[in-house]
Amino acid sequence: MAFIKLYLAPGKEHSLKRFHPWVFSGAIRRMDGEPAEGDVVEVYSSKHEFLGMGHYAPGSIAVRIFSFEQVEPDYKFWKQKVQQAYQFRERLGLTQNPQTDVYRLLYAEGDGVPGLIVDFYKDTAVLQAHSVGMHQVRTLVAEALQEVYGDRLKAIYDKSAESLPHRNHSGIQNGYLFGESTGGTIVTENGNQFFVDWETGQKTGFFIDQRENRSLLANYVKGKSLLNTFCYTGGFSVYALNAGAREVHSVDSSKKAIELTERNAALSQEPERHEAFAIDTFEFLRGKENRYDVIILDPPAFAKSQNVRHNALMGYKRLNAEAMRKIKPGGILFTFSCSQVVDKYLFNNTVMAAAIEAGRNIKIMHHLSQPADHPISIFHPEGEYLKGLVLYVE
Ligand code: SAH
Repeated sequence: MAFIKLYLAPGKEHSLKRFHPWVFSGAIRRMDGEPAEGDVVEVYSSKHEFLGMGHYAPGSIAVRIFSFEQVEPDYKFWKQKVQQAYQFRERLGLTQNPQTDVYRLLYAEGDGVPGLIVDFYKDTAVLQAHSVGMHQVRTLVAEALQEVYGDRLKAIYDKSAESLPHRNHSGIQNGYLFGESTGGTIVTENGNQFFVDWETGQKTGFFIDQRENRSLLANYVKGKSLLNTFCYTGGFSVYALNAGAREVHSVDSSKKAIELTERNAALSQEPERHEAFAIDTFEFLRGKENRYDVIILDPPAFAKSQNVRHNALMGYKRLNAEAMRKIKPGGILFTFSCSQVVDKYLFNNTVMAAAIEAGRNIKIMHHLSQPADHPISIFHPEGEYLKGLVLYVE
């Protein structure tokens, strides 16, 4: 098949030669046609050297490269992407693990499929396309998933209506590409059970990226009083209940999230030690001095773009300073940021500023990130979005 060719301005080829998969619109000198959003295009340097193939979109990132070689992006090509991603998860011990049956199978640039995410919930795959190009290949990907998983896969849910760029929302609906609705399922993560409803939940239904950090939390909670703020479906709370915490309080401003947290706490070994509050975190923290031994701060992304980064940093500082002031002496604070535009250095500095403001002496116990099933391509450091610190607050 012939694809429209894009030629970059002189000198703009360097990042692609280093396998960075984004072509910014400003780097394009000319195109030998008018690609529609989602079309496959070929990218060339000003000297007509082939650089890569990808999906076109009329935005600041004009092309997202899915291959640095000239290929036919057919079923065989996408199946190979799925197989490679599967082999990596197999190597991670995630594909046939009775202790953990929830994981990310495809993570965008990290798996060479920019704009595509596929999460696994026991026997259901949930697909989210973030670009029109990837939305257009969803049926090929779905077919490949069925071939790779065979009988282990019962359904594939396409949840792209929320994730596609806003201009493409009209007319696109979520739905099953294979199988049918079961109304959600109970998954197991490191032996802890959670009910996941991908149809009505946030994102694909569950925050899989906190798996290892929840596991680490379990080491520090025995006999302790814990506060889990921004709890969503109670991931950290359930681990704490199963690891022998004396008391667990979960807070989320969304009533729906609190209902889900209560449902999950009921699946834990110590549901009576749990209490959940549908309230704003700052409001809840009022008057809670010296109340908790462990506090978790896992807010939603405060900054979704560079131009609001400053406000986001102020938000992180205020939140962290507040928790530092309230936590018991000798307490442990798990603090996170999932804003991609706030990198780990900026986050550390912001937390340091919060510590200065709170006037507490603080030691860094652990630097946290996202687990390996959310892989970061070494050529695409922007893929690292989750960062966290575990702090000992004296
Ligand atoms: N820690 C969770 C994921 C957090 S997602 C997990 O492990 O699954 C962020 C959550 O913060 C959302 O559920 C959202 O409803 C909640 N939230 C947003 N603003 C809030 C606020 N001001 N106070 C409390 N919760 C808030």
